[in-house]
Amino acid sequence: MEAIGVVKIEVKCIHCDGKDVVKMGKQANGTPRCKCNSCGKTFQTKYTSNGAKPQTKQMILKLSTNGSGIRDISRVLNISQNTVLSTLKKSKNISQT
Ligand SMILES: [Zn+2]
Repeated sequence: MEAIGVVKIEVKCIHCDGKDVVKMGKQANGTPRCKCNSCGKTFQTKYTSNGAKPQTKQMILKLSTNGSGIRDISRVLNISQNTVLSTLKKSKNISQT
């Protein structure tokens, strides 16, 4: 089992592409906010992993319902097969309860 809580997401500044970025907590809507130490600007983090996007989840489920395999889905959405698998697993657990 992998420790999901320690996954490190690399965040780049959207203004200067710098990597010296610190997290500043979340906004009211839950969007993480970051500050770049290079240019001093703040910005919302982009999801570096498509698997974290709610939209992507829906796409996975949609494609799966339409008969696409895990390989196809991961290729189409440009995410890992593991992400597809875990998303499908999670959604199954939810629908069963
Ligand atoms: Zn910057």
